[in-house]
Amino acid sequence: MSDCIFCAIVDGDIPGRIVHETEHTLAFLDANPLAPGHTLVVPKEHHARLDEVPADAAADLFAAVNDLVPRVEAAVDADATNVGINNGPAAGQEVDHVHVHIVPRFEGDGGSPIHAVAGERPDLSDEELDDIEAAISG
Ligand code: AMP
Ligand code: ZN
Repeated sequence: MSDCIFCAIVDGDIPGRIVHETEHTLAFLDANPLAPGHTLVVPKEHHARLDEVPADAAADLFAAVNDLVPRVEAAVDADATNVGINNGPAAGQEVDHVHVHIVPRFEGDGGSPIHAVAGERPDLSDEELDDIEAAISG
């Protein structure tokens, strides 16, 4: 997509600190890192939302994430990582090209677990949970 910053990195039109490349996937350092080693993993083809990524490219994307996590942790001597996707603007997605964040974490770094991303926790009844279970499982 012509005005997409991550497509421009994939196409080599703007610079990126590229750390991994496969047929369908590119990984590069986040330009405004939350921690040293903060890495973004993207499908080379432009898709805004995860469910729009074709199955073969999604498999390649997550295989790359699986491959990269230990390499990122080792590179910055991290104790752990948070791995996540802001999937849609309401979830905080600012760049509308699917990207997986790999955020290195360190003992005592003052950060939070991924549970901190959502708002107030809902108090769901068993009936509501039954309905959600049925809606997802189809
Ligand atoms: P999100 O809020 O999930 O869309 O995150 C977008 C991420 O892209 C942010 O962490 C930004 O720091 C990062 N970012 C924006 N522009 C660039 C760029 N040119 N190169 C690398 N990372 C970028
Ligand atoms: Zn794009």
